[in-house]
Amino acid sequence: MAVICERFDDLGLEDPGKEVRLGIMGGTFDPIHMGHLACAEQARVAFALDAVIFIPTGMQPFKQGKRVTDAAMRLEMVKLACATNPCFDVSPIEIEREGLTYTVDTLRQLHEHYPSNVELYFITGADAMLSIAKWHDSAAIADLAHLIAVTRPGYEMTDEAKAELDAANFDVSYLETTALSISSSMMRDWVREGKSIRYLTSLAVHDYILAKGLYKD
Ligand code: ATP
Ligand code: MG
Repeated sequence: MAVICERFDDLGLEDPGKEVRLGIMGGTFDPIHMGHLACAEQARVAFALDAVIFIPTGMQPFKQGKRVTDAAMRLEMVKLACATNPCFDVSPIEIEREGLTYTVDTLRQLHEHYPSNVELYFITGADAMLSIAKWHDSAAIADLAHLIAVTRPGYEMTDEAKAELDAANFDVSYLETTALSISSSMMRDWVREGKSIRYLTSLAVHDYILAKGLYKD
């Protein structure tokens, strides 16, 4: 049975002398959309990542009290979206973990699972990047993974924010990606308002949202 995910559990085992680059894309994914998928794909190519694993969050410290769709459905939507890209997969490790979700625990778990020739690249949009230095045990996060900060419409990666990450010893690379002004909150609003979200996510995810009647109220 898969421990981390179906496609990439054995990453790094084939040749222990060869560096393998693993991208990690964390998020609530409520629902996953083209903004997530396009920036993961563009980061994969720009940084020669061998694979990208999407990891939907369990209970997030800063989203407590907010309404979040059932974890199994968010996981299923990410699975549907990743199915057609052989370099993508989804992992349930955060959803299956008890208690609040902390990225540092996830990165530790990945480090324990994979051999030492697997390097972790944590992909994050500009909005999340602005707060990462304040996340739980951010010093350990900086030790465990490289950071790829991708542009996102509406959020500016200021020199102050960059300096803060440098000061916290993060190894950050910045990536200009296609500006897709899509957010999950916008999609939830649009479904509630009866607008079409077709083409904002994969067709399979679009059809799943409609079939399950998600975000209607
Ligand atoms: P919500 O509106 O519910 O917060 P979201 O669209 O921000 O949803 P999240 O699941 O919160 O999606 O984000 C997961 C990760 O994807 C974060 O690192 C976020 O910065 C990044 N991200 C989300 N949308 C985009 C986008 N359009 N362009 C670039 N990065 C994005
Ligand atoms: Mg968000």
